[in-house]
Amino acid sequence: MAGEQDLMEKIVSLAKRRGFIYPSSEIYGGINGFWDYGPLGVELKRNIKDAWWNDFVRCPPLGPDGRPIQMVGLDCSIIMNPKVWEASGHVVNFNDPRVDCMQCKTRFRADDFWRSELVSVTEVPEVVTDEFLESVATKRGHGPVFLECAGYELQPIVRRELDSKKAKVVTRPWVIAWGVQSGGPPSPRAFVIDGNRYYFVDSDKTVARDGDKCPACGGALTEPRKFNMMFKSHAGAMEDSSSEVYLRPETAQGIFCNYKNVLDTTRIKVPFGIAQIGKAFRNEINPRNFTFRSREFEQMEIEFFCHESQADQWYKWWRDTRYAWYTGLGLKSSKLRLRDHEKEELAHYARACADVEYEFPFGVAELEGIANRTDFDLKAHQTASGRDMTYFDDETKERFLPYVIEPSGGCDRAALAFLCEAYCEDEAPDENGAMQKRTVLKFHPRLAPIKVAIFPLVKKDGMPERAMEIYSALRVNMTAVYDEKGAVGRRYRRQDEAGTPFCLTVDGQTMQDGTVTIRDRDSMKQERIPGDPAALLAYVQEHLRR
Ligand code: ATP
Repeated sequence: MAGEQDLMEKIVSLAKRRGFIYPSSEIYGGINGFWDYGPLGVELKRNIKDAWWNDFVRCPPLGPDGRPIQMVGLDCSIIMNPKVWEASGHVVNFNDPRVDCMQCKTRFRADDFWRSELVSVTEVPEVVTDEFLESVATKRGHGPVFLECAGYELQPIVRRELDSKKAKVVTRPWVIAWGVQSGGPPSPRAFVIDGNRYYFVDSDKTVARDGDKCPACGGALTEPRKFNMMFKSHAGAMEDSSSEVYLRPETAQGIFCNYKNVLDTTRIKVPFGIAQIGKAFRNEINPRNFTFRSREFEQMEIEFFCHESQADQWYKWWRDTRYAWYTGLGLKSSKLRLRDHEKEELAHYARACADVEYEFPFGVAELEGIANRTDFDLKAHQTASGRDMTYFDDETKERFLPYVIEPSGGCDRAALAFLCEAYCEDEAPDENGAMQKRTVLKFHPRLAPIKVAIFPLVKKDGMPERAMEIYSALRVNMTAVYDEKGAVGRRYRRQDEAGTPFCLTVDGQTMQDGTVTIRDRDSMKQERIPGDPAALLAYVQEHLRR
């Protein structure tokens, strides 16, 4: 039952133990929604950002016409003139309704009150059996979970419609509430499996209503109130409303504000894109699922400006290109999905939108959104700032406001997905040849925090010196580590847990014929190859590109 939850716990524990991700300010008890990246985590995240920057800014892909698309980069300030956020709509619209427990002070999203997690059910049998319910229950993450059976009325169990790709259909689905504590939603039908109470609930009930009680302590709740998710601060010495500023909740607005600067200071022409990677801050009411929903995170955003008549074509191109980027870096499994939004789901200004989603152990959730935002943003800034945002096309002599295609992804969510995908348990022989459980992170070589580890088999007979020589040659070109401590099998396993694709070992034979062994992380196969540092560098680089 707890398989997926156990898996998430194992990943969180490995992330901490091996220095990928730590709770922020842990020595003071941490702070909800904030995380620090340790020595391996920072390399992983940097590799993700480098791959994104390289693949879309430095060496952008070929567009629909077979020529490289035009892309440039930007790095804007986190704090901007507050008028930006009025024009963008964030001051008025970036709200989540919230209710507070008057007893234990816990805060909940009022519009998602009874649904702390949503888990998709892709195959629902004609008759819902205990086994089926148990299998869906194992998909739960931490805490109470609501399982949504899109398009199904669960009693009587009649098959209506099923689109397995729709992870979040919201046209009156029914939900199964998992293990809701006392004060759970009133239900005409409840049942028990293994001591856990389950309810069938109309999904409308996920909204907090009069008389609902706190799921944590049973206390009374406040009325729903609006809660703006932007963090506020003050710029300058005065702390009054005139000095109020916001920490940006997204990087996109910095791009829109600089779109004219980029046009005026470069020779770029529409269609073109501006890319930015940077921190964003959202005062999320319920940060959860490890780094997935944090209050401080990094975004990787592109605003691609094009003529309205080409917007649909560019939208489709970006949607497919961004999806392919994730698969190319290892999210190959059936866990990655591309979900087109239903018409009703679209924001009023958006013409189309799709989410790249990943099936995390806690459920299917968004990694990135790709949207056709029309000319909404440029128009809004043009109106609010009084600056002309139009573009003049020299060739067609047309002046127009470009449409914008926005692929907007989160670096932390990508890192978490790559971590979950890479996590693997298998068996490897120990020093005595006995099979032992092995934990290995099978990262794509481009993302692996350390590319190669170099070991002397023993700390004598000139082996450390030779290994150090190889290490010195390789580390100039890639992240490499040198390790001479402990049994070599244990050193291999340490590197497996870090996701290092290759280990080079200098042994007795090296001292005779100059060859070394190279061990592949995934197959654990060892090969003997020439140990000359220059040849080794070429060999490893070649294999990292696979
Ligand atoms: P969600 O519906 O999950 O809150 P969103 O649709 O509000 O996400 P966007 O505003 O489209 O997200 O932001 C673009 C990307 O930024 C998301 O796809 C996600 O990868 C990342 N992101 C957004 N909010 C968070 C967060 N609280 N923690 C980590 N990453 C986030």
